[in-house]
Amino acid sequence: MRFEISKVLDAIEGRVCTDPSLARAVLDLAEVIRYQDLDGGRPASLLRLGMVIDALSRELAEDSVPVYAIVHRALLSDADLTSNERMVVRRWADDGLVEVLDNPGDRMLEVADLLGLPVVSRVRFDGLCGRFPWLVEQPGRVVAPVPGAGGPAFVAHVGGGHTPVEGDRSPVGGQLLARQWRCPEPGCALFGGGGGGGAFADLARVDRAPAGQPPPALRQGVPTCPRHGARLSDAGPRPRSEVLAIRIGGLIRRRFVLTEDQPVTVGRAPEEPGGVMLGQWLNDETRRWISRAHVRFELRVGEVIVTDVSTNGSGIRPNGSMAEAERVPLAPKQSRVLGGADMVELYPGVQVGRARELPTGAAFTPTSVMAEAPTMAMRLPRN
Ligand SMILES: [Zn+2]
Repeated sequence: MRFEISKVLDAIEGRVCTDPSLARAVLDLAEVIRYQDLDGGRPASLLRLGMVIDALSRELAEDSVPVYAIVHRALLSDADLTSNERMVVRRWADDGLVEVLDNPGDRMLEVADLLGLPVVSRVRFDGLCGRFPWLVEQPGRVVAPVPGAGGPAFVAHVGGGHTPVEGDRSPVGGQLLARQWRCPEPGCALFGGGGGGGAFADLARVDRAPAGQPPPALRQGVPTCPRHGARLSDAGPRPRSEVLAIRIGGLIRRRFVLTEDQPVTVGRAPEEPGGVMLGQWLNDETRRWISRAHVRFELRVGEVIVTDVSTNGSGIRPNGSMAEAERVPLAPKQSRVLGGADMVELYPGVQVGRARELPTGAAFTPTSVMAEAPTMAMRLPRN
C-alpha cells in the first residue's frame, strides 16, 4: 500500500514545477492539502494535490499539466502530513520544483500576475483587487476546487464558469522574464547556477536553469529572491526558448521547452538526456513504426529545426493542415525549419508543434496522476 502511494507521489512530482513556460496554474500547497471535503480523509494529504492536478488536466483537456506550487516553510514540518509526504515536499523544495517561503504573503497572486496564470484557490482576495485588477475583471482567473462526482471540479470566483483561464503576462513579468537572475545565497534552488530535478521530475529536468527560472519577486520594484529575500543580480539575457507540445490522438500529452543549449529528441524511448518518451501513449502499431529516437528538435537563432533521426521517416503538415495532399515527407536524416503553425507528424495522429498553435481536446480521457492510488489511500492513518 505504501509503495503504491509512493508511486502516486512520484507521478505528482512530475507535475510540479516553477518553470514559467510550463506551469499552467498557481496554487498554495498548504491550502490544497487541507481540502478535506474532497475525499473526507485525513486533515492534510498530499494526494489532494494530485486530485486537483487531475481536475486541471480534465478542464484543460491536456495531459501532464504542471502547477506552480507556493509552499509555506512550516509545511515541511507539518505534523498532519505523513513522514513520507514531508520528505517528498522537502525533496521538491531542495530541487526547486516548488517555491518555499517563510512568509508567502501575496506571492501566489504575484506569480499569477507576472506569468498570466490562473489561480487555484478557495480564498476570496477582495482586498487585493486594486493591486490585481484581473481578480475581478477576468472571469475564470481564480477557480475554487469543490467536490464533484468524478473528482474535484472547479467553480470560478468571477463569471460562474468552471474552466481556469489564462491571462497575459504583465508587462513587468515580460521584462523580468527577459533576463536571468542570480541569488547571492549559495545553493539557491530557484536562482542558483544549476538545479537538481528529482529522479522522476523529467518535466522539470528537460530545462531547469536558466531558461526555466521562476519570476523574481518584486520588493519596492527591485527583483528579489522570494526564498531568501536577497536582491538578485542581473545575469544577462535569458536564453531564447520555444515551447513545443506533443499531440497524440488529438490530445496534448505534454509540453516541453526547447532552448539553444539543449536539443530535444522525441521518440518511443529516446536515450538522449532530456529526451521525450512517447511509448506510454502509443498502441502496438504506432509503437512498431516510431523509432526509439524519431525526431530531434533544435533551436538556432530563434528558428526551430527538426531533423528526422528515425528508420521510417516522418512528415510535415504545413500550417497544421490535415489535408493529405499537403503533407510533405521528411525522410530519415532530413532537416527542415518548422514554420509557425507547422507540425511534424511521426505517424498519423502523433504530432509535435508549437504549443500555442496546437489545439487540444479530443474526446480522450487524460492520464491520471492518481492511477496508482489505492481506493483507500485517502483514509490511511498517518504514520
Ligand atoms: Zn535565493
